[in-house]
Amino acid sequence: MTCLEAEKLVIPYINDRLSIAELEDFMEHIEMCGNCREELEIHYMVDIGLKKLDEDDGTYDIVGDLKRRLEESAAVLRRFLAFQIMKYAVGTLMAMALLVTSLLQIRIWHQAGFLFF
Ligand SMILES: [Zn+2]
Repeated sequence: MTCLEAEKLVIPYINDRLSIAELEDFMEHIEMCGNCREELEIHYMVDIGLKKLDEDDGTYDIVGDLKRRLEESAAVLRRFLAFQIMKYAVGTLMAMALLVTSLLQIRIWHQAGFLFF
């Protein structure tokens, strides 16, 4: 992802509008690109911070809030990845179980004389 692409996703990210694939690329870029992280901080401050400061008593911790938000996104991605791996593993196991069951069944039929090979 380029900086230009990442910048376009800053506002959607703040508004929780990214797909999981976009979020993955975005987080990856934000982690290694200081410029875009700064861009995100500024937008976050303007978008969320000012609103919160308005209704809060002024003790609102904006940097901590964004940090928590980013950690939350990372956790979402980790859960998604774990789910994908699990889905793959279960799918593979089920295919293998089906194969083994079929082979056993063929053997049983074979031994019982139902098959001519
Ligand atoms: Zn960048």
